[in-house]
Amino acid sequence: MKKTAVFPGSFDPFTKGHECIIDKALNLFDEVVIGIGQNTSKNYLFSLENRKQHIESIFEHEDRVKVLVFTGLTVDFCKSIKSDFIVRGLRDSKDFGYERSIAQMNYEISGIESVFFMTVPEYTAINSTIVREIHKSGGNIDLFVTNAEKLVK
Ligand code: ADP
Repeated sequence: MKKTAVFPGSFDPFTKGHECIIDKALNLFDEVVIGIGQNTSKNYLFSLENRKQHIESIFEHEDRVKVLVFTGLTVDFCKSIKSDFIVRGLRDSKDFGYERSIAQMNYEISGIESVFFMTVPEYTAINSTIVREIHKSGGNIDLFVTNAEKLVK
Protein backbone atom coordinates (compact mmCIF):
# COMPACT_ATOMS: atom_id res chain seq x y z
CA MET A 1 0.00 0.00 0.00
CA LYS A 2 1.20 3.49 -0.89
CA LYS A 3 2.56 5.42 2.11
CA THR A 4 1.61 9.09 2.02
CA ALA A 5 2.82 11.75 4.46
CA VAL A 6 1.54 15.28 4.94
CA PHE A 7 4.01 18.13 5.45
CA PRO A 8 1.85 20.92 6.88
CA GLY A 9 2.87 24.53 7.32
CA SER A 10 2.20 28.10 6.36
CA PHE A 11 5.24 28.28 4.04
CA ASP A 12 5.25 32.08 3.91
CA PRO A 13 7.51 31.55 1.99
CA PHE A 14 8.70 27.95 1.35
CA THR A 15 12.47 27.93 2.03
CA LYS A 16 15.44 25.69 1.29
CA GLY A 17 15.02 24.39 4.85
CA HIS A 18 11.51 23.14 4.00
CA GLU A 19 12.81 21.73 0.71
CA CYS A 20 15.47 19.72 2.52
CA ILE A 21 12.80 18.16 4.77
CA ILE A 22 10.79 17.09 1.70
CA ASP A 23 13.88 15.52 0.11
CA LYS A 24 14.49 13.51 3.27
CA ALA A 25 10.82 12.49 3.59
CA LEU A 26 10.82 11.16 0.02
CA ASN A 27 13.39 8.56 1.10
CA LEU A 28 10.84 7.12 3.52
CA PHE A 29 7.43 7.78 1.94
CA ASP A 30 6.04 7.05 -1.52
CA GLU A 31 4.32 10.41 -1.70
CA VAL A 32 4.47 13.67 0.25
CA VAL A 33 1.57 16.12 0.25
CA ILE A 34 2.59 19.64 1.16
CA GLY A 35 -0.45 21.03 2.98
CA ILE A 36 -0.63 24.80 3.09
CA GLY A 37 -2.71 25.53 6.18
CA GLN A 38 -5.00 28.51 5.83
CA ASN A 39 -5.47 30.22 9.16
CA THR A 40 -7.95 33.08 8.79
CA SER A 41 -6.57 34.95 11.80
CA LYS A 42 -3.02 35.07 10.37
CA ASN A 43 -1.73 37.75 8.02
CA TYR A 44 0.47 36.33 5.30
CA LEU A 45 3.00 38.27 3.21
CA PHE A 46 2.58 36.11 0.11
CA SER A 47 -0.88 35.23 -1.18
CA LEU A 48 -2.10 31.66 -0.93
CA GLU A 49 -2.11 31.25 -4.71
CA ASN A 50 1.41 32.65 -4.97
CA ARG A 51 2.74 30.36 -2.23
CA LYS A 52 1.11 27.36 -3.91
CA GLN A 53 2.47 28.20 -7.38
CA HIS A 54 5.93 28.87 -5.98
CA ILE A 55 6.08 25.48 -4.22
CA GLU A 56 4.71 23.71 -7.32
CA SER A 57 7.46 25.28 -9.42
CA ILE A 58 10.11 23.83 -7.09
CA PHE A 59 8.72 20.29 -7.42
CA GLU A 60 7.73 20.55 -11.07
CA HIS A 61 9.78 17.45 -11.91
CA GLU A 62 8.93 15.40 -8.81
CA ASP A 63 5.57 13.70 -9.30
CA ARG A 64 5.69 12.21 -5.77
CA VAL A 65 5.10 15.67 -4.30
CA LYS A 66 1.66 17.35 -4.35
CA VAL A 67 0.63 20.74 -3.02
CA LEU A 68 -2.83 21.19 -1.47
CA VAL A 69 -4.47 23.87 0.65
CA PHE A 70 -6.45 23.05 3.78
CA THR A 71 -8.34 24.73 6.59
CA GLY A 72 -9.10 23.27 10.00
CA LEU A 73 -7.18 20.59 11.87
CA THR A 74 -4.12 19.02 10.25
CA VAL A 75 -5.23 15.57 11.42
CA ASP A 76 -8.61 15.99 9.67
CA PHE A 77 -6.79 16.98 6.50
CA CYS A 78 -4.60 13.85 6.82
CA LYS A 79 -7.69 11.65 7.17
CA SER A 80 -9.37 13.30 4.18
CA ILE A 81 -6.48 12.23 1.95
CA LYS A 82 -5.94 8.87 3.71
CA SER A 83 -2.55 9.73 5.16
CA ASP A 84 -1.46 8.35 8.56
CA PHE A 85 1.69 10.46 8.94
CA ILE A 86 2.63 14.07 9.54
CA VAL A 87 6.14 15.19 8.65
CA ARG A 88 7.76 18.12 10.46
CA GLY A 89 11.23 19.61 10.40
CA LEU A 90 13.44 20.26 13.40
CA ARG A 91 16.13 22.94 13.56
CA ASP A 92 16.89 23.10 17.27
CA SER A 93 15.62 22.30 20.76
CA LYS A 94 13.11 25.15 20.56
CA ASP A 95 11.45 23.50 17.55
CA PHE A 96 11.54 20.19 19.43
CA GLY A 97 9.73 21.54 22.50
CA TYR A 98 6.99 23.08 20.39
CA GLU A 99 6.61 20.16 18.01
CA ARG A 100 6.54 17.54 20.74
CA SER A 101 3.35 18.90 22.33
CA ILE A 102 1.58 19.20 18.99
CA ALA A 103 2.66 15.70 17.93
CA GLN A 104 1.52 14.13 21.21
CA MET A 105 -1.85 15.88 21.11
CA ASN A 106 -2.37 15.01 17.45
CA TYR A 107 -1.65 11.37 18.27
CA GLU A 108 -4.09 11.42 21.19
CA ILE A 109 -6.94 12.79 19.11
CA SER A 110 -6.38 10.84 15.91
CA GLY A 111 -3.72 8.10 16.16
CA ILE A 112 -1.79 9.92 13.43
CA GLU A 113 1.96 9.59 13.94
CA SER A 114 4.38 12.50 13.46
CA VAL A 115 7.77 11.86 11.89
CA PHE A 116 10.61 14.34 12.34
CA PHE A 117 13.60 15.09 10.20
CA MET A 118 16.56 17.19 11.28
CA THR A 119 17.52 19.90 8.87
CA VAL A 120 21.05 19.93 7.44
CA PRO A 121 23.39 22.25 9.44
CA GLU A 122 23.66 24.86 6.67
CA TYR A 123 19.87 25.41 6.73
CA THR A 124 19.41 25.52 10.51
CA ALA A 125 19.36 29.31 10.53
CA ILE A 126 16.76 29.65 7.78
CA ASN A 127 13.51 30.94 9.12
CA SER A 128 10.52 32.17 7.05
CA THR A 129 10.01 35.19 9.33
CA ILE A 130 13.52 36.52 8.71
CA VAL A 131 13.30 35.71 4.98
CA ARG A 132 10.07 37.79 4.86
CA GLU A 133 11.80 40.73 6.57
CA ILE A 134 14.71 40.64 4.10
CA HIS A 135 12.30 40.45 1.16
CA LYS A 136 10.10 43.29 2.48
CA SER A 137 13.15 45.52 2.73
CA GLY A 138 14.20 44.76 -0.82
CA GLY A 139 17.01 42.29 0.04
CA ASN A 140 17.95 39.28 -2.04
CA ILE A 141 16.54 35.98 -0.72
CA ASP A 142 17.97 33.69 -3.42
CA LEU A 143 20.34 32.09 -0.91
CA PHE A 144 17.41 30.90 1.20
CA VAL A 145 14.62 30.23 -1.30
CA THR A 146 14.65 28.22 -4.57
CA ASN A 147 12.87 29.96 -7.49
CA ALA A 148 12.52 33.13 -5.41
CA GLU A 149 11.72 35.04 -8.60
CA LYS A 150 8.30 33.30 -8.61
CA LEU A 151 7.31 35.06 -5.39
CA VAL A 152 5.27 38.18 -6.07
CA LYS A 153 5.79 41.18 -3.81
P1 ADP B 1 4.20 26.52 10.84
O1 ADP B 1 3.50 27.84 10.81
O2 ADP B 1 3.28 25.34 10.81
O3 ADP B 1 5.30 26.37 11.86
P2 ADP B 1 6.28 26.81 8.86
O4 ADP B 1 6.05 27.04 7.41
O5 ADP B 1 6.96 27.88 9.60
O6 ADP B 1 4.85 26.46 9.41
O7 ADP B 1 7.10 25.47 9.09
C1 ADP B 1 6.66 24.21 8.66
C2 ADP B 1 7.61 23.14 9.17
O8 ADP B 1 8.91 23.34 8.62
C3 ADP B 1 7.82 23.09 10.68
O9 ADP B 1 7.96 21.73 11.07
C4 ADP B 1 9.13 23.82 10.89
O10 ADP B 1 9.79 23.39 12.07
C5 ADP B 1 9.88 23.36 9.66
N1 ADP B 1 10.94 24.28 9.25
C6 ADP B 1 10.90 25.61 9.12
N2 ADP B 1 12.10 26.11 8.74
C7 ADP B 1 12.94 25.03 8.64
C8 ADP B 1 14.33 24.87 8.32
N3 ADP B 1 15.13 25.90 8.05
N4 ADP B 1 14.82 23.62 8.32
C9 ADP B 1 14.04 22.57 8.63
N5 ADP B 1 12.73 22.65 8.97
C10 ADP B 1 12.19 23.86 8.97
